Amino acid sequence: MSDPYEDAPERTFAALPPAHGRGFAQTWWGQAWLKALEDAAMDLQQLKTGRRLARAGAVGAVSVRPGRITAVVQDRDRTSHRADVLLQELSEDQWDRFLSMAVERAGHIAALLDREMPPHLVEDAAAAGVELLPGLGDLEAECDCGAWDHCGHTAALCYQVARLLDQDPFVLLLMRGRGERELLDELQVRSAPRTEATPARQQTHEGVDAAEAYAAGDILPPVPAAPPVPVEPGLPPSLDTETEPAPGVDPAALEFLATQAAREAHRLLAEAVRAGHEQHSIEAELTSAQDAVRLASSAPAASVTARLAEGSGRDREGLALAVRAWEYGGVPALDVLETEWTVEAENLARARAALASAWEEERPPLRASRNRWTVVGGAAQVRLGPDGRWWPYRKERGRWTPAGPASPDPATALALAEGQE
Ligand SMILES: [Zn+2]
Repeated sequence: MSDPYEDAPERTFAALPPAHGRGFAQTWWGQAWLKALEDAAMDLQQLKTGRRLARAGAVGAVSVRPGRITAVVQDRDRTSHRADVLLQELSEDQWDRFLSMAVERAGHIAALLDREMPPHLVEDAAAAGVELLPGLGDLEAECDCGAWDHCGHTAALCYQVARLLDQDPFVLLLMRGRGERELLDELQVRSAPRTEATPARQQTHEGVDAAEAYAAGDILPPVPAAPPVPVEPGLPPSLDTETEPAPGVDPAALEFLATQAAREAHRLLAEAVRAGHEQHSIEAELTSAQDAVRLASSAPAASVTARLAEGSGRDREGLALAVRAWEYGGVPALDVLETEWTVEAENLARARAALASAWEEERPPLRASRNRWTVVGGAAQVRLGPDGRWWPYRKERGRWTPAGPASPDPATALALAEGQE
């Protein structure tokens, strides 16, 4: 509904059908409107006539403009009277204060758009010096029947308008001087500087100048201490619902991942708090193949383990071996399990020297292959890691299996591999 007369917004409401035996105002603001009329009435008979006329459908179309409502009211004797009720418009200054208040409280406008007028809105407006609802004597009457105060016609008009107000509180704001469109446009303009067209010196969204805030750092209270780390990581939500999951969705695997993510977050948080600000431990990011092993090491359900194996290109047993290596030494241990490499000349010389001097008694015969030394005719092996440490391995069910943590001494590692320690 656009209004071609911007300077004089006006809304016209078609005549309402007769309303038998019901009150005129259901809402609290409609009732407040009628109270202003009824408190001021000198003659209760006029109010009674007004209610009767309004109920009978004698009030014609109602026009609402700033400061004035008008309708033609048909008397019982079929004579028509033009009735006007005047209400003071808000001043520019009052509108300014009302709009400032409304910009601060977005909820008020949302309520108005829902055609509601919460008591808080009226109270907040009153606190800003703006009375939205009429009070005693605020509804002035003009009627061509010649009455000097309210007559049955103007009372009928007020009762009718109470029904309109019930439907739409913007009717009251229009009487007070501003149409809905105009108000909403104005509110938009007023709220705009908060998100755009910010002056250059206001760098933060709070409108606080960054340089000023920084300069004031000395007088500000210290940053509060970090909150304590929770004793345990949080629990994930249960995804075990009655409904069948969508194809490809594995609730058990998701729950497992959520649990692991919470544990990892808890671990990182605890570590960060321990390390404080001086020292940030930087950990290399895991590849997805390594992360699958990390996840599998927390003993998930068999179906999840199977997915981790498949997803990381290992068979079930391969993943079990990887988990074992992981438990002995993390990423380096996993590398030693899954890759074999040629030892650089310098490191090889050092390794050979260690192999020659580590045994007090006779060393078992070893067959070398790249970074692995295997006991000839036996089921034990030592593997040289990139950091010069030795990893014990034992052949079990046909596969080389990690047998313990790394040692700087090959004899210790081999003893572990042979199950002697
Ligand atoms: Zn009259």
